[in-house]
Amino acid sequence: MPFTIAIDGPAAAGKGTLSKAVAAHYGFAHLDTGLLYRAVGIKVLAGADPVAAAKALVAEDLDSGDLRGSDAAQAASRVAVIPEVRAALVDFQRAFARRDGGAVLDGRDIGTVICPDAEVKLFITASAETRAERRFLELRDRGSDVTREQVLADVKERDDRDMNRADAPLKPADDAITIDTTELDIPAALAKAIDVIDQARS
Ligand code: C5P
Repeated sequence: MPFTIAIDGPAAAGKGTLSKAVAAHYGFAHLDTGLLYRAVGIKVLAGADPVAAAKALVAEDLDSGDLRGSDAAQAASRVAVIPEVRAALVDFQRAFARRDGGAVLDGRDIGTVICPDAEVKLFITASAETRAERRFLELRDRGSDVTREQVLADVKERDDRDMNRADAPLKPADDAITIDTTELDIPAALAKAIDVIDQARS
């Protein structure tokens, strides 16, 4: 039986970690939809046309090692404002969402545009400073020499672009449950998410 959990929110709010943990808890498949935009962004940095790159995207493109860095993140949010790029990625995400056995998708527009009928919609957020600090520690652990200030500026710039674009702007769906992780660690945020999902499944 299909069962879709849509998890949206701004950059570095904890969506990725939470989505993986939720998927593991229920034995559902997980798709980090940011990777689709990052993969297109990386191809554009290498000289490709954004719309052609989105139309030609294949699963192997999501395994590229460069996708997690800040260049890919910025390039992703720039291609993500192009309606034709977004349109080219819709079918893949919807098919994933309705696969048998349940699916968790995390991104910016899953509850609002990709899966407006998802059985559960969560909106994960946290203060910009908290999110930037988490992303800074993650990038530093991976050997990047960015500063806290650069990461905060990057997170704010991306949020601003994601929230203010005309097509599929980042915002909670009207029926989404918001979880603010500013003061929550991962187990506490996961417990809240499981509460909401268990209610929807019963
Ligand atoms: O989630 P992540 O930080 O990997 O996303 C990178 C960028 O891709 C975001 O800043 C956003 O512009 C774009 N994105 C989007 N819609 C999604 C997922 C990501 O526009 N569903």
